[in-house]
Amino acid sequence: MGGKILRRTMRDCCKIFGLVILGLILSLFFSRLILPSQVDDVSPLMNCTYEVLDLGDVYFVVPKFENVSIVDVDGWCEEILAKNKNLAMHGIYHSYEEFGIYRDEIYFDEGVEIFQDCFGIAPVRFKPGQLKWTDENNWVKEKMEVDLFWNHIFHKVYHCGNSGLFPNWVIRIF
Ligand SMILES: [Zn+2]
Repeated sequence: MGGKILRRTMRDCCKIFGLVILGLILSLFFSRLILPSQVDDVSPLMNCTYEVLDLGDVYFVVPKFENVSIVDVDGWCEEILAKNKNLAMHGIYHSYEEFGIYRDEIYFDEGVEIFQDCFGIAPVRFKPGQLKWTDENNWVKEKMEVDLFWNHIFHKVYHCGNSGLFPNWVIRIF
């Protein structure tokens, strides 16, 4: 008798647990469907095709990838502006683990200035390369919004050059 009740309780528990998980997966799916999608690694050197750029609502631009400033590439800023998307900054040089170590204001402001020269507006949103972040850089959060790990969970994030953890076609589906 007691065993029967226990088995039933366990079965009900499993059912509730399953429903909760399903609910979480569905809400994640819909938040990714509804919230603005993003394109990372927007840079003249990262092979951004129109096909990828057209998937995003927000472009995360790298100001100086491989030491080439975006303002020095003829017509690039105008081309990106013509897409009429929201623009944010993605690293400064986007070197490996760039913001995984402490960066000072001088370092950061170089990116801000390049961004401003290119687009005529200062960035108000920032995402570090590879999402690597040390809390020593939290001072940036007082200047602008900083997108970290959870941003990539709740939004679809495409990558120029298809260089993300998941290829763009997977992001398109989920
Ligand atoms: Zn990146």
